[in-house]
Amino acid sequence: MNLKDLWFAIIKDLEIEINRANVITWFKNTTLISAEDGLLTIGLPLPVFLNWHAQNYAAITLKTAQKHDPAIKKIAYEVDITLSEKDPRVIDLLSHFPEKESRKLPNKQEMKLKGGVVTKMLNPRYSLENFVVAPENRLAHAASMTVTKYPGQNYNPLFIYGGVGLGKTHLLQSIGREVLRNDPNKVVVYTTTEDFTNELISGIKTGNMNKFRSKYRKVDVFIIDDIQFIANKDRTQEEFFHTFNTLYEAGKQVVISADRPPHELTLLSDRLVSRFESGMSVDVKMPDYESRLVILKNKCQEAQVFINDQVLEFIAFNIDNSVRALIGVLNQVIAQYELEHTAPTIKSVAEIIKRSKKEVKMVGFIQDDPTPHHAVTVDQLTNYVSEYYTIPKSEVLGESRAREYLIPRQLIMYLAKTKLRISLAKIGQSLGNRNHTTVMHAISKVQNLLRNDRQLLYDTNAIIKEAGIH
Ligand code: ADP
Ligand code: MG
Repeated sequence: MNLKDLWFAIIKDLEIEINRANVITWFKNTTLISAEDGLLTIGLPLPVFLNWHAQNYAAITLKTAQKHDPAIKKIAYEVDITLSEKDPRVIDLLSHFPEKESRKLPNKQEMKLKGGVVTKMLNPRYSLENFVVAPENRLAHAASMTVTKYPGQNYNPLFIYGGVGLGKTHLLQSIGREVLRNDPNKVVVYTTTEDFTNELISGIKTGNMNKFRSKYRKVDVFIIDDIQFIANKDRTQEEFFHTFNTLYEAGKQVVISADRPPHELTLLSDRLVSRFESGMSVDVKMPDYESRLVILKNKCQEAQVFINDQVLEFIAFNIDNSVRALIGVLNQVIAQYELEHTAPTIKSVAEIIKRSKKEVKMVGFIQDDPTPHHAVTVDQLTNYVSEYYTIPKSEVLGESRAREYLIPRQLIMYLAKTKLRISLAKIGQSLGNRNHTTVMHAISKVQNLLRNDRQLLYDTNAIIKEAGIH
């Protein structure tokens, strides 16, 4: 099997294990550089892929590769920024893994269930799998899992409390979705305290209280968000108490959230509070720094954008009060990135954070652009190289394919791309109007040569030093 076929076979298996979206994101423009002496070298198109692969995909990639070729003992990664869709070694993943027709869900705020029961739509973005488990929310997550497995049996009611933007709604809606996924015949109602109150008021107005009451008898899992808003609403509390008891006595699951624990809900009737305390109460707090970083990385992956680790760390370090705010800052960073096409830097992100937070902590973070663009031009680089090799500049720019001119010419292209980060088209223009495929070819050739040719490596390092383009 040739390298490309082997890589395709591996990716096909990986797609089943780690899903399509991950494969499209993280295996795009990758390739197998070599398979020699049991070592499989994988080429990655961007430096940010390196960490991600090492942490998430190294083990499974090796395991999968061994299925196809038991001789493989190890894998290694190499960043090759010239890898792109146009590279013949790269597999066109989008055509091999086309997007499945997504099932259109009605874009409605509410959904009618059997027996006239209405529930708010559950947001498909919320699931127990994509909830990042941190020490600060582990218990709440575990209790939610249990409830989805054994609704109405353990932890009834389940009461989840904590400040704003810490994942309560996320967990509540995930429970609803998961219960339905396990058993589509279950009647699940998710509602907010506000909607419950409004529904009750209109029931009273239209004299339809019996209908209001009877509909909840059909519900298997009743989920109500932000119960603190029931404070001071005596009639709503009364009616909620009634609903709660009906469900509870029938062995149905009730899940409640609030911004504080039951005993601190001082404006609620004692009997309600003691009902809430009879089940399981768990809190959610702000996840620790590491978990915040994971949340950010997951979001980047979801949005299919690559943001420098330093920048993500800076956001995770600074936003420590709410997950909603954390994601909010990231979304602004992504929006700016997409509008301006310039990679976010610590400095630009600090500006964004300042909009919502007075004090930005810089400790350990450098304001400078993490990817410096050198002031050296292709023309200056050409001068350095021709001087170093003592060959005329006209020959470097000319058409001669003699090795003594060709290699220096290709080396300039390589350095202009990897060190100066100049576009392929512009490099070609500056070097005697060559087209970008010639440049691309030259860069990958030098990259290959550098692996074995010690003299070339020595020369390259000397030129880098000379030109000051580390
Ligand atoms: P709350 O209801 O507590 O105010 P939400 O559930 O609305 O908070 O969460 C705010 C945002 O943060 C949502 O986008 C949610 O998906 C996200 N979020 C909160 N906690 C986590 C977590 N542990 N992992 C992933 N996303 C989270
Ligand atoms: Mg909420």
